[in-house]
Amino acid sequence: MFPTSIAGSLPKPAWLAETQKLWPQWKAQGDELRQAKADATLLWIKAQEDAGLDIVTDGEQSRQHFVHGFLEQVEGIDFEHKVKMGIRDNRYDAMVPQVVAPLKLKGRVHAFEAQLARAHTTRKLKFTLPGPMTIIDTVADRYYGDKVKMAFAFAELLNQEALALQADGVDIIQFDEPAFNVYMKEAADWGVKALERAAQGLTCTTAVHICYGYGIKANVDWKATLGEEWRQYEQIFPALAKSSINQVSLECYHSHVPPHLMKLLEGKDLMVGVIDVASDTIETPEEVADTIGTALQFVSKQRLFPCTNCGLAPMDREVAMKKLEALAKGAELARRRYG
Ligand code: ZN
Repeated sequence: MFPTSIAGSLPKPAWLAETQKLWPQWKAQGDELRQAKADATLLWIKAQEDAGLDIVTDGEQSRQHFVHGFLEQVEGIDFEHKVKMGIRDNRYDAMVPQVVAPLKLKGRVHAFEAQLARAHTTRKLKFTLPGPMTIIDTVADRYYGDKVKMAFAFAELLNQEALALQADGVDIIQFDEPAFNVYMKEAADWGVKALERAAQGLTCTTAVHICYGYGIKANVDWKATLGEEWRQYEQIFPALAKSSINQVSLECYHSHVPPHLMKLLEGKDLMVGVIDVASDTIETPEEVADTIGTALQFVSKQRLFPCTNCGLAPMDREVAMKKLEALAKGAELARRRYG
């Protein structure tokens, strides 16, 4: 009961990349960088296991950014000439690469870190990929001229990589779609269909993570404008409930999401955010168990997976480590309380 996991990303050690940045510069190159990524991946697998998490991830140690890490292996994208673009409905500016030609995978994207992680843990392994709608919101289009068409082109490539990750032995493939919470109508109209295209033919567990973003200032400021009740999920959950995706990861603790919106996802497994990624304060096991208790009013025990609200990438490494422990200890307490 209550298997624990994180949304996906973890902080990169200072010897691997710049710390506390969303687009950090690597500290090495070539073979040395490859080895450093491998070392960081193993370090975090061990840390997740020691903390007591049931499902582990590679911590996204091998990608600079959760979207651009995938795009680096796509032909048809110009990484040499990045342009400044407002992303997530102009919430903040990012330097993004440009789509300039038909899209095609250059080869495998994440084989190295997925196979490495698989070889070094017997726990369930989750692997994250950016969702099609979030990708097209994090790249400049100079070729397709139609965002739905471009999203489905990316969905096909994601599907190729997802099927290969499944063959590598990954247990859960999760697509990250923070853009669903920004373009709710489009998400319900075609975003969920593009997501299903990306997950087509997968027999492993499939998941989607929808959040209010990393704990960076632009997101914290944005959330302050969303009012007393955050009802974005209300517009997208009905479409997701009808979809083929098995699990949905959502924010809960310290958010203004009305918890009863979880009822819109009947039949799905819910990864409920019980750890705040926008605060360095470490949750107590009691706080985590209380959040699980709140969620239990709207989701059955068998379908509740305690999780973090979002990725931990921009956080302090020691804080992240303690948050992993808080997550596991809180779930343990909840098993005793509600088991
Ligand atoms: Zn997130």
